[in-house]
Amino acid sequence: MQDPDETIRGTNDDALQSKLSAINAGYIDDKYASVFLKRGEKRAPIINRGTFTRTYSIDHLISKFIEKHERSQILSIGAGSDSRYFCLKDRNQQPTRYIEIDFPQITGKKAMTVCKNKQTKALLGEVSIENGGLDLYSEDYCLIAGDLREFKSKILLQLLSKGVDTSVPTLVLSECVMIYLDPTVSDMLIQTIAESFKESYFISFEQILPNDAFGGQMLHNLKLRGIELLGISAYPTIDSQIQRFIDHGFKSCIAHDMNTLYERYVPIAEKQR
Ligand code: SAM
Repeated sequence: MQDPDETIRGTNDDALQSKLSAINAGYIDDKYASVFLKRGEKRAPIINRGTFTRTYSIDHLISKFIEKHERSQILSIGAGSDSRYFCLKDRNQQPTRYIEIDFPQITGKKAMTVCKNKQTKALLGEVSIENGGLDLYSEDYCLIAGDLREFKSKILLQLLSKGVDTSVPTLVLSECVMIYLDPTVSDMLIQTIAESFKESYFISFEQILPNDAFGGQMLHNLKLRGIELLGISAYPTIDSQIQRFIDHGFKSCIAHDMNTLYERYVPIAEKQR
């Protein structure tokens, strides 16, 4: 039987395929995703539109966060092969420090890839490779191997030892990640962030509504591949998602489903394009 963590790591390939499909079809402008995957498969228009809406919305929130704070940190948990740091740096919009965490199998490969590629290497500047090739540090970027189930007991201590500053406003980014963790673990992670950083923000994107027609089909398809969305029954709705952040230390929380984001927040010009 396959290691369940290996199946979860495989979802990073799906995320990257979807991203590249949306980039190749002109929905998203990102010249760094292809560093991690040369040739993507074409995805259905509804997937491209969903990927676009997610990326557009998260990019917008990140830009607002960076513009608002003179010094800032972004902590991307389960970052996979996300290329956002390189896109931000290319636009000279990066935070003071951008930290990515994922399983060692993912960070080791990513560290090697970004050092081999001329464009990403140039953006990183001088790097130090540590932990047997699994961790990478540059002046404003850290790629750290770790298991999020050990966030409080190990990862947080490592972040502190590497100069992550809990007094600097910090935005945690979790895109399709906490849904794979046992809800008691992801709740503890949210609580630890809220308690450890003086000023913290949290962007979370994950699946909801397991019982509607689309959700049921999605769960069925994932199950066939051995993937279980552990978080979905604990937090199946918008309201329960909001409540979880309030119950675990955040002062306020706003949540929307993707249809609402697309209808209300994507500008008409972008929709027409
Ligand atoms: N956030 C990226 C994105 O949106 O492109 C990747 C999303 S991918 C669906 C989920 C990622 O979470 C994978 O890279 C996986 O390895 C990581 N992940 C899941 N559980 C984890 C854990 N316990 N510790 C570290 N990383 C984990």
